[in-house]
Amino acid sequence: MSSGIFFQTISIFYMVLLLIVYFAKRRLDSIENKIFIVLMITNILGLFIDVLSIFTIFHMDKIPIINSIVTKLYLVYLLTWIHMFTIYIFAISRKNDNSFNKKAKFILIMLITNLFIMTVLPLGYKKTNDFVYSYGLSATYTYLISGLLILSWVVCMIANYKDLKHKKYLPLFIFITIGVLVMVLQYYNPGLLMMTSMETFVTFLMYFTIENPDMKLIDELNLAKEQAEKANEAKSDFLSSMSHEIRTPLNAIVGFSQALAEEDIPNEAKEEVKDIIMASNVLLEIVNGILDISKIEANKIEIVNSGYRFKEVFDDLIVLTKARMGEKPLDFRFKYDDSIPPYLYGDHMRVKQVILNLLTNAIKYTKEGFVDFRVSSVIDGDVCRLIISVQDSGIGIKKENINKLFEKFSRLDLDKNITIEGTGLGLAITKKLVELMNGNIVVQSDYGKGSKFTVALDQKIMDNDVDLIESKEIHNDFSEIEILEDETDVYNNSSIDLPRLLIVDDNKLNLKVAERLLKGYNVEVHSLESGQACIDEIESGKRYDLIFLDDMMPKMSGVETLKILKQNSEFKTPVIMLTANAITGMKEKYLKDGFNDYIAKPIDKIELDKIIHKYLLDNNVN
Ligand code: ADP
Repeated sequence: MSSGIFFQTISIFYMVLLLIVYFAKRRLDSIENKIFIVLMITNILGLFIDVLSIFTIFHMDKIPIINSIVTKLYLVYLLTWIHMFTIYIFAISRKNDNSFNKKAKFILIMLITNLFIMTVLPLGYKKTNDFVYSYGLSATYTYLISGLLILSWVVCMIANYKDLKHKKYLPLFIFITIGVLVMVLQYYNPGLLMMTSMETFVTFLMYFTIENPDMKLIDELNLAKEQAEKANEAKSDFLSSMSHEIRTPLNAIVGFSQALAEEDIPNEAKEEVKDIIMASNVLLEIVNGILDISKIEANKIEIVNSGYRFKEVFDDLIVLTKARMGEKPLDFRFKYDDSIPPYLYGDHMRVKQVILNLLTNAIKYTKEGFVDFRVSSVIDGDVCRLIISVQDSGIGIKKENINKLFEKFSRLDLDKNITIEGTGLGLAITKKLVELMNGNIVVQSDYGKGSKFTVALDQKIMDNDVDLIESKEIHNDFSEIEILEDETDVYNNSSIDLPRLLIVDDNKLNLKVAERLLKGYNVEVHSLESGQACIDEIESGKRYDLIFLDDMMPKMSGVETLKILKQNSEFKTPVIMLTANAITGMKEKYLKDGFNDYIAKPIDKIELDKIIHKYLLDNNVN
């Protein structure tokens, strides 16, 4: 008896210690932890009852009622522990389904029912020469239920046999191997009182097997992550506002230079104006490159797929390349295979960006000879693999430099190309974009003779034009454009005067640039300096055929202005976003906001021309 008391008291001491240690540390608010707390408390109570029963059994004749209460309490403990441990087994085996809650509730109801049944069942006592212990229906029922629950654990283990290696199952293994033996022994020899010690040991083990990461460390990590995210956001905001700030003066420089270049000015001045435009374009490319790479690094670039006409993209690239080539004496050859399906589905803006980067490099790094641009295709079911190659007869790339080619800020062979402007970002961006589109890029180069870049990109094939429009509606919210274009048609047909264009921008210089660039068109240009002025103008009944709206204006942004304008169901004028907020993805955002189109500042003459023709002039001619 004395050794029993000693052992149980020591166990109580350790369990209380464990409880204190456990509560002293912050832990995860997990279901496993909650059950563990209940099991620990149940265990401590069980150990107390054990100690009590050692006394009461020996003085049974004197205090029979107390003895029977203590024995029943012991059975209450046994039932509670084993039910709670069953819930724990279900908890550690749960997958991402909702059945755990149902199972846990069922076991709790079972526990209450079993406690009730066990309490009302009779309990008898057996006396041996040196020991008195309880037996009878109440005890048998408790062991029977325990046996059934253990059976459910075995079923659970079989169902999750793949996870059994995990340490969280260790207490269960210990219980099943040693615990069941102890239970059988105790059933035949209740005087052993080993069950509680066994369960205490299992509970103790659980302290080490329940996943309890260092919460302090997690807090610190979360804080660090939050700070990093904030810093990243600040960087993005900074870049976006810098882009805006740099673009606004650039808009004036490029805009006025473009306008000047078309004027009748002395040849020397014309050359200088061209140099200004070229230098501004390089500066713009640098700003764009830095913005793109930082967006890519922040995983903020999304691939936006939509239906497109392949020929349109190809033709655009030819126009842009020719413009970039200027008067460089290069033989520009281009060709695409007739086998390429006319309608494809993919991110045509990015496809264009990738090819344009390669073509621009080919022009930049080739003094004389040719630039050859080819697109062929391999069709597999509804997928068209575009094989795009850009070859030049330029300076070529040294073998040892090929590997560094796609690293950001890597400018190679500087002694040869020191005079060529560049940031070393173009190919890094190109490669990332190709990878984002699940494509491939390879380089072959013969130093001193030329290079060939080949890109393979899978694009889905679309059957016809109808699909193209539908896909635009789904992915870019273009639906309104189609309707608005029709409306514009009707409106313009009824107009006999010049088409009326309204430009809204808070920056007077920007207004001046736009007005200057629009001078050559047969269009009546009006300008206003705020969103509110624009709303007042439209509400007063003034009608325009097209509106260019800046976004970042004080008091009311362009997006807010458009929202208010659209509240009037009569308002059908197409609205174009004309903004210096030109970081990647902005076009898609503004189209989603309800704008019909988008022009970035500095205004590109070709883009402006397209918009004016699309929304004003072509409609008028019809
Ligand atoms: P950038 O052209 O702005 O310097 P890129 O990332 O586009 O940056 O190119 C990185 C480097 O790779 C260039 O500086 C150049 O040395 C080399 N390079 C790229 N394209 C070609 C090419 N077609 N011919 C020769 N060298 C090239």
